[in-house]
Amino acid sequence: MSSERKQEGAGNTAPAKWHEETLAVHAALAPSQYGENSEALYLTSGYEQPSAEAAAARFAGEEDGYTYSRLGNPTVTSFEQRLAAMELAPAAIATSTGMSAILLLCMGLLKSGDHVVCSHSMFGSTIKLIGSEFAKFGVTTSFVAQTNLDEWRAAVTPQTKLLFAETPTNPLTDVCDIAALADIARAAGAWLAVDNCFASPILQKPMTLGADIIVHSGTKSLDGQGRVMAGALCASADLVNNVFAPVIRSAGMTLSPFNAWVVLKGLETLGIRMRAQSANALAFARWLSAQPRIAKVFYPGLESHGQHALAMRQQSGLGGSVLSFELKADNATDAKAKAFAVLNHLNLAKICTNLGDTKTLAAHPATTSHGRLTEAQRAQAGIGQGLIRVSVGLEHVGDLETDFLQALTHAA
Ligand SMILES: *Cc1c(COP(=O)(O)O)cnc(C)c1O
Repeated sequence: MSSERKQEGAGNTAPAKWHEETLAVHAALAPSQYGENSEALYLTSGYEQPSAEAAAARFAGEEDGYTYSRLGNPTVTSFEQRLAAMELAPAAIATSTGMSAILLLCMGLLKSGDHVVCSHSMFGSTIKLIGSEFAKFGVTTSFVAQTNLDEWRAAVTPQTKLLFAETPTNPLTDVCDIAALADIARAAGAWLAVDNCFASPILQKPMTLGADIIVHSGTKSLDGQGRVMAGALCASADLVNNVFAPVIRSAGMTLSPFNAWVVLKGLETLGIRMRAQSANALAFARWLSAQPRIAKVFYPGLESHGQHALAMRQQSGLGGSVLSFELKADNATDAKAKAFAVLNHLNLAKICTNLGDTKTLAAHPATTSHGRLTEAQRAQAGIGQGLIRVSVGLEHVGDLETDFLQALTHAA
């Protein structure tokens, strides 16, 4: 166990008994001797050691104290404490990006010969990382249909070490039953990891539903204002201290203290942003559903969504900030031309592949986030050329409707 991590919990100013809204603004390390009210930004790579003996004891893990920021930093610790508190998770470990959190997950839990089951509608880079990069090291992966529990069950082998789910998915917002996947993982003696990027802890807390590990991209709604890259894993203290911390110590996918500070402050407003953006997204999804040039709208908050009842039960009654819609078209070439025309005529909403932002962002998944997948992988994931993903922000919905109405006329 690294000495820096023993320090977590010591001096945390927010006991776990407080409500989520309170933890979101208070969970952090105690203030310094100066009594700053806003958590301090410790922009330092190293720490002066009181003596050679103390340095030796800290590096050996026998004494608490920070040594070097690849191993631990007080601002990063505050972010880890606040995120863990909001996820009702025992511990968290921060990483430089969401993808490096998934890299840490795989490096920590998997070895050559192990097998992973995950949905074929996972985030595009996740499919590349696990399905291609880790295949080089002898890890095999079965990709199954997100919502078909029988496929997950049937894919499990004696070598299966990890089930990895993302719900709702990007970009089609398919929802899977976390508690049911936890049962399958437990029966298989495998870990269940859930990418909670789309829902955030405001909508769902996967560890309370039986997940072992939560994966986060802090870049998305946790920051929520499009400023920095960040990531994290939430898990038991044993996994964080004894499995993930030793890997990060050697591999170095560490979160910068500056980025940790930005996301720490982002967490303070996550609740009000997620609720407001979910309300905006629902109103906007209803409006899109009535547009004659749109074939289908994908949003968990709509009654027409394939897993609407499950989503409302699992996600605190909220649909989240992201939706997608498919344009009516004659064929793939026509669909792509129409989707590009709509995107190119948006004035208020921007073409940008980030999501969870306060500004509304639109993207063409088939040529961006999912552009590196093969045509067959895209078809399997249901991502057509006429699909547009929208991350709904905090603007007035009427302004979004005005903007999309004029852009949609160019899809004629
Ligand atoms: C963006 C995203 C990631 C990767 O996060 P980065 O911070 O961009 O590395 C992982 N999973 C999901 C669902 C995402 O949307």
